Amino acid sequence: MGKLDVTVLRYLTKEDFRVLTAIEMGMKNHELVPGQLAASIANIKAGGVHKLLRELCKHKLVSYERGKKYDGYRLTNTGYDYLALKSLTLRGSVSSFGNQIGVGKESNIYVVGDEDEKPICLKLHRLGRTCFRNIKAKRDYHGRRHKASWLYLSRISATREFAYMSALHDRGFPVPKPIDFNRHCVLMELVNGWPMTQVQELTDVEQVYDDLMNLIVRLGNAGVIHGDFNEFNLMLTDDGNPILIDFPQMMSTSHENAEFFFDRDVNCVREMFRRKFGYESEEFPKFSDLKREDDLDAEVHCTGYGVTKEMERDILQEYGMIEEDEDSESNVSNDEDKNDTQDEKYTNEDIKVYRRQLENEVSFSEARSAKKTDDSIRRY
Ligand code: ADP
Ligand code: MG
Repeated sequence: MGKLDVTVLRYLTKEDFRVLTAIEMGMKNHELVPGQLAASIANIKAGGVHKLLRELCKHKLVSYERGKKYDGYRLTNTGYDYLALKSLTLRGSVSSFGNQIGVGKESNIYVVGDEDEKPICLKLHRLGRTCFRNIKAKRDYHGRRHKASWLYLSRISATREFAYMSALHDRGFPVPKPIDFNRHCVLMELVNGWPMTQVQELTDVEQVYDDLMNLIVRLGNAGVIHGDFNEFNLMLTDDGNPILIDFPQMMSTSHENAEFFFDRDVNCVREMFRRKFGYESEEFPKFSDLKREDDLDAEVHCTGYGVTKEMERDILQEYGMIEEDEDSESNVSNDEDKNDTQDEKYTNEDIKVYRRQLENEVSFSEARSAKKTDDSIRRY
């Protein structure tokens, strides 16, 4: 596992950043963003944009592709990573980049340095990398259908993770301390401990079993279910205390499938203890034991991070935890042919919205750049 390639952070210009951000905006309802649309959003002359786009292609931040009806640019993984890391660097949350320490089901995990060079954990969410044809249509902010792209899914996954981690950490749950997030990236405390997958024996098996079951109940009483409570998402500190990680799929205990996922989390722990430590107990919590003491589930929707019910539905569908709603399924097949043509159209209103968003992004980063030059970006 290698280093995060961040050399490009050093030599891209303000204008490159502007055009790359314009491609990101255009991708909200275009699979391929025509150069001309990027030029309008970035407010740069068409001739100038093409040169900048060629440069971005060379660095693999965007790719140029031929579509059925028109050609255009697509933001790459690297391009999206770049935008997020640039923002996190400019606001001083990250100052250096280190090694990859983990690959999860839906993410890459790195160690990076914060402003004081203290090692912290960076999680890059990577969702929705399935075939484009299979991706469900969703509604964008104008209420029009668009494809639930990897950009959207990765971003809402990170946003939900940060919101839940913050709410849990505030209440003293054993989770990493959340530090910052941007787009599909979450920064958090680096847990000093072992992934449960690597733990082969425990000094006090019964104690850890009880701690984990109590944690599930405590979460339940606060109104939430982790939903993926297994040895890949649990770490153990040197003094034997469990730390829970990985939160994008969390759901409310009021969700219609809540009992199913509560029982599944409980059974994960029972199964893990039987298999790894030969430990079985007749004592385990039931959904009906829960007594609501808090509304953590409702609170994440009012944190100001912009976590919505719609995001919950979209992400839980992506994880296969709830059924696709028929509405989006049936419309995809009907819309299949229309999608390509719809993609091509954008109104002056769209451009205005995108331009405003772009100016926000860019003015912020330019203000920070004045204080902090890219030379301050180092590697370990
Ligand atoms: P995924 O959603 O892809 O499963 P996880 O959040 O579970 O990603 O992280 C994957 C792995 O990375 C974990 O199993 C763990 O080993 C490591 N990891 C994740 N977060 C941290 C952290 N804060 N500190 C230390 N290691 C971590
Ligand atoms: Mg995980």
